[in-house]
Amino acid sequence: MSEIQKKNVAILGSTGSIGKNSLKVLSNFPEQFKVQYLTINKNIDGILEQIQQFKPRGVVVLDEAASRELKSRITDSTEILCGEEGLLEIVQRDDVDIVISSLVGFAGLKPTMKAIEAKKKIALANKETLVVAGEIIMNLVRQHGVALLPVDSEHSAIFQCLVGEESKHVAKIILTASGGPFRTKSKDELKHVTIEQALNHPNWKMGSKITIDSATLMNKGLEVIEAHWLFGVLPDKIDVVIHPQSIIHSMVEFVDGSVKAQLGVPDMKIPIQYALTYPDRAQSAFARVSFPQLKEMTFFEPDKEKFPCLQLAFDAIKTGGTMPAVMNAANEIAVEKFLDDKITFLRIPQLISKTMGAHVSTPHPTIDNIIDADVWARHYVKSFVV
Ligand code: MG
Repeated sequence: MSEIQKKNVAILGSTGSIGKNSLKVLSNFPEQFKVQYLTINKNIDGILEQIQQFKPRGVVVLDEAASRELKSRITDSTEILCGEEGLLEIVQRDDVDIVISSLVGFAGLKPTMKAIEAKKKIALANKETLVVAGEIIMNLVRQHGVALLPVDSEHSAIFQCLVGEESKHVAKIILTASGGPFRTKSKDELKHVTIEQALNHPNWKMGSKITIDSATLMNKGLEVIEAHWLFGVLPDKIDVVIHPQSIIHSMVEFVDGSVKAQLGVPDMKIPIQYALTYPDRAQSAFARVSFPQLKEMTFFEPDKEKFPCLQLAFDAIKTGGTMPAVMNAANEIAVEKFLDDKITFLRIPQLISKTMGAHVSTPHPTIDNIIDADVWARHYVKSFVV
C-alpha cells in the first residue's frame, strides 16, 4: 500500500490506557495507519517514548509547564503544540483522517465536537462526551455525515450485534457489567473500602477514573446513557445484567425473541481494532476465548440499592436536558475527592444525588447550557468537600 492511502490517526490522550492500547493496535498495521498526532496532559516521559517509537508529526501537551519541558527535552523536528487550543487545532487538520477520542471526562467534549465538524472518522472511547451532550453530538454526526464508532467494549459489542439489522427490530439492549471489585460486599462492608481496593478491578486494567466508576457502577450508568444516544434506544429498553466473567460484552434482543451477543476475552485492543478496521476485520494475535477453560458464565440482577449510581444514571437520562451533565460533573469531582482520600466510597453516590436534587434541568440544552451546568455542579460538590 502506498504512503498516500495510509490513514492518518490522531490519538487524544495517548499515554492513557486506551491511548496505549490504540498504539499497540496501530503498531500491528504500519502499512494501513500512520500515527500523526498524539496528545497528553503532562506525562513527558511517556510521550518521549511514544515519539521515539511512532515518530508523530506533532504532539499536543495540555499542561503549559509540561509543554515547555517537552520542548526543552526534544531533539527531533516533532511539532509541539500547547493547551486546549492545540488540541482543537490538530483534530481539524487536513492530515488527520481518524481521531481516537480517549480523553477522560468532560474534557473530551470540545475536541470531539471539532473533529466531527471537520468530518473526521471518530473512534469514541470518551463516553462522557455522549453522556453530557448526546443530543448535540448525534445531531452533528448526522449533519456532517461522519462515522462515529464506539470503542467502549459494551457499545462495540452492541454495534457488532446490530450489523445487518434494522433498528425497528430491536426490542432491547442488554448491557453486561462485571460488577466491579465490590460485587459481593455487603453495604456495611462498603463503608470501609479503601482506594486500593476500589482500584483493583477483577477483569479489566484501566485508568483510575473509570476503575472507580466501575466499582460504584457509575460506569455502567454512563454506558446506559451512551447506548441510548448511540443506538437511539429508550432508557426503559436498556437492561443491565451483572456478568462477572466479562466474556459477553453486551447483547441485543430482537422483536422475535432472538438474542445476539458479542463475546471475547476482556481486552480493549479488540474493540479498538474493530473501530479502526470497520467494516473490515483484520487478523490479530489477541488471546482467544477458551470455552472449556471458561466452563461457565453467570448472570445476576444488579443491586441498585447497594450501588445507587446506576439508578442515578437512569434518573438523569429520564429527566434529560442538562441533568446528565450535572450527574457527570458531580461524579467526576466525587471520584477525584475519593482518590484524594477526602471522602469515603459511599459518599460518592450521596454527593451526586444531592447535586442532581439541587439542579433544575434545561431541556434540549445548547453547549453553553451544558458547560454552565457542568461548572455549577463542580462548584456545588466542592462546596461540601474541602
Ligand atoms: Mg465499558
